[in-house]
Amino acid sequence: MLNHPGNLAPLHAFARAMPKIELHVHLEGALLPATVLKLAQRHQLPLPARTETELQDWYQFRDFRHFIEVYLKLQNLLRSSADFELITYDFGREMQRQNIRYAEVTFTAYTHLWMNKGLSPDDIITGLDAGRCRAQEDLGVTIAWVLDIPRNLSFEGQRYTGAASDPTVEMALAWQDRGVVALGLGGDERTAAAEPFAPAFTEARAGGLHSVPHAGEMDGPGSVWGSLRALGAERIGHGVRAIEDPTLIDYLITHHIPLEVNPTSNICLGVYDSYAAHPLRQLWDAGVLVTVNSDDPLLFNTTLNQEYDLLIDHFGFGAAELEQISLNALHASFLPPERKAELEQSFRQEFAQLHSLYE
Ligand SMILES: [Zn+2]
Repeated sequence: MLNHPGNLAPLHAFARAMPKIELHVHLEGALLPATVLKLAQRHQLPLPARTETELQDWYQFRDFRHFIEVYLKLQNLLRSSADFELITYDFGREMQRQNIRYAEVTFTAYTHLWMNKGLSPDDIITGLDAGRCRAQEDLGVTIAWVLDIPRNLSFEGQRYTGAASDPTVEMALAWQDRGVVALGLGGDERTAAAEPFAPAFTEARAGGLHSVPHAGEMDGPGSVWGSLRALGAERIGHGVRAIEDPTLIDYLITHHIPLEVNPTSNICLGVYDSYAAHPLRQLWDAGVLVTVNSDDPLLFNTTLNQEYDLLIDHFGFGAAELEQISLNALHASFLPPERKAELEQSFRQEFAQLHSLYE
């Protein structure tokens, strides 16, 4: 039944039940609607919405400006250690619900400090770490952090003069014992290129962090090349527009550089007009190490499970390919090799058991 072209229901059920890993998701873009309302009440910060339905209308994606406005309003709700613990634990519950066993979650600590909410770096990491440990203990899901530099904000702050260490890098290096595994770079590539951030990434990598900048989303292959050459990118956030440069595609394959593809996000933000125009299948067929992710599930009204549904409905993926997508994320993760081997074995066992359920 799993690969029967006429009835896709068993394949969708299989995709929901299978063990998965997510590598590209922003904690602040993954808040649960009920939590957003709770935080607004907790801090007496009125939102343009009072119910979950009204909330959904408000944050429904319209354009990039509205997206940023909503994003900042949501960030403003996060004002204490307890808030960060709550949203991290919530995230863990969603992982458990969707059978996501491990996630590398992006978090933009610098924006919270820049917003001047009276938070110290210590308040932030204390909350994140408490939520992460409790999620591991109660729910059996593992969270690691990618701390990302907001590229546009950092340019505005004229941080890249070479005079001082980047505040995100300082926090990321100091918090490695509390789950930080990598340095990211988010924001709009068109107005802030990768190259000026080279010193920040050099320092982070020398201190033991991995490099995972966003590139090849709003801008073309040049931005991906810049991230590879100047930032030592080991994985690319998005990277879909690499498809415009065959030499770059060869490079990604030869050097085993995975892409963190986010189909729904790409459609919402207008990178592509439709799933038919999206290059996911082409990248996959060319042999690029593709992973699939949800980016900002709250704002794009998606989940990782729904992204897997898209693979089935719009990209013609069958059971074996879905399994490979899940294993790709495992291989592309920054877990230690022995943990990867353990998880691969247990994932394969689960896949086999699920086959007997849905076949
Ligand atoms: Zn992203």
